[in-house]
Amino acid sequence: SSKWGRAMAILREFEEKCKTQDAKLKQVADAMTVEMHAGLASEGGSKLKMLITYVDNLPTGDEAGVFYALDLGGTNFRVLRVQLGGKDGGIIHQEFAEASIPPSLMVGTSDELFDYIAAELAKFVAAEEEKFHQPPGKQRELGFTFSFPVMQTSINSGNIMRWTKGFSIDDAVGQDVVGELTKAMKRKGVDMRVSALVNDTVGTLAGGKYTQKDVAVAVILGTGTNAAYVERVQAIPKWHGPVPKSGEMVINMEWGNFRSSHLPLTEYDHALDNESLNPGEQIFEKMTSGMYLGEILRRVLLRVAEEAGVFGDEVPPKLKEPFVLRTPDMSAMHHDTSSDLKVVGEKLKDILEISNTSLKTRKLVVELCNIVATRGARLAAAGVLGILKKMGRDTPKQGGSERTVIAMDGGLYEHYTEYRMCLENSLKDLLGEELATSIVFVHSNDGSGIGAALLAASHSMYL
Ligand code: ADP
Ligand code: MG
Repeated sequence: SSKWGRAMAILREFEEKCKTQDAKLKQVADAMTVEMHAGLASEGGSKLKMLITYVDNLPTGDEAGVFYALDLGGTNFRVLRVQLGGKDGGIIHQEFAEASIPPSLMVGTSDELFDYIAAELAKFVAAEEEKFHQPPGKQRELGFTFSFPVMQTSINSGNIMRWTKGFSIDDAVGQDVVGELTKAMKRKGVDMRVSALVNDTVGTLAGGKYTQKDVAVAVILGTGTNAAYVERVQAIPKWHGPVPKSGEMVINMEWGNFRSSHLPLTEYDHALDNESLNPGEQIFEKMTSGMYLGEILRRVLLRVAEEAGVFGDEVPPKLKEPFVLRTPDMSAMHHDTSSDLKVVGEKLKDILEISNTSLKTRKLVVELCNIVATRGARLAAAGVLGILKKMGRDTPKQGGSERTVIAMDGGLYEHYTEYRMCLENSLKDLLGEELATSIVFVHSNDGSGIGAALLAASHSMYL
């Protein structure tokens, strides 16, 4: 029927616009490399902030003692306590508590957000066994993982540049995030000192390095996306501070804000961006990360409903609700292996209130999931390739024993298998057979929290 003809035409056009052939990905990777250079050359030299992290040494394995971490990412936040055993001792104990951030606090005031966090921290500490108590006169030390752009001024201070991922707290912008947390802890009676402020990518890099010495890059694919890597200080013209002994500095790329004319943007992406809390910003993030994939899918489905009427004569009202279709649900539909696509049917019914869908309709939905996820995963792979190029690790070395481990984390990477496989396979395809085996992805589970605790330890005031 013409209804299906129209639906197929929309799908094919979308597919065409989302195409990420290898040649395009190489252009994206090259553009990423170019922007990395520009961001390192001067402050504000690129959309890529390439932030100095003040982390010039990654964990050695000698860290010892009880340390805390607070991980504020986007959707949830976690409080951790980690007991480190020192040389060859590893992690003796770890315990965490998790809470979700009430949506109202994402767009409220700084005090409200940090009071809430400090109160959760107070609860965690209050419930703790005596054996973890610090000796008299010694303060607990905390690594604070804060996954938003921060212009750091030292290892434990830095000003919030802007919000992303659905947060918008105006009065916090420009404030020292450690200062805000420290004031809130005081208000809530928590006696703790923030000894390291780290981005989640930096935490993941540190956490990954603790167990795998060849870790050189960390990538987060969760609510948002970002990456960090180890750069030579000599290759950072904008750094005018002292050259650290290691000669190295971890760079927080803030790659979510990457954009390039080579990115395959569609009308759906433009509309999503225009209607977002941060129009014009985080374009790469809006094409690749968990907060947005389901929303892109919803927008295409809405179009299919409006113009081809595949969900009946009336457009299902739920389909008009922004962000109603979440990426975990998209992922569940994409992974549906039942012959009648039962999961897809259920999701369409439960979330969008569209019942009695035909197998043909369900297949269309799965195909759209695949297009959206494939584009996102392949762009993320191109981003990683850009980093490897910058590091000179994209071509085989003489002798050929160099290994590059990429520490990965985030709910999207962890749970969306199709996405993860596509990302990993695409990078290997782009690099070619010879290099494919020397590039290794590891899931650094909760690496960002443990990494922050490790960095708190290596920057302890009691050392
Ligand atoms: P954050 O990025 O907020 O620190 P996480 O790393 O836990 O938090 O990532 C959470 C995000 O991961 C969710 O917002 C969601 O987009 C994505 N996600 C979680 N579970 C799944 C899933 N089963 N399939 C696909 N994406 C998922
Ligand atoms: Mg996180």
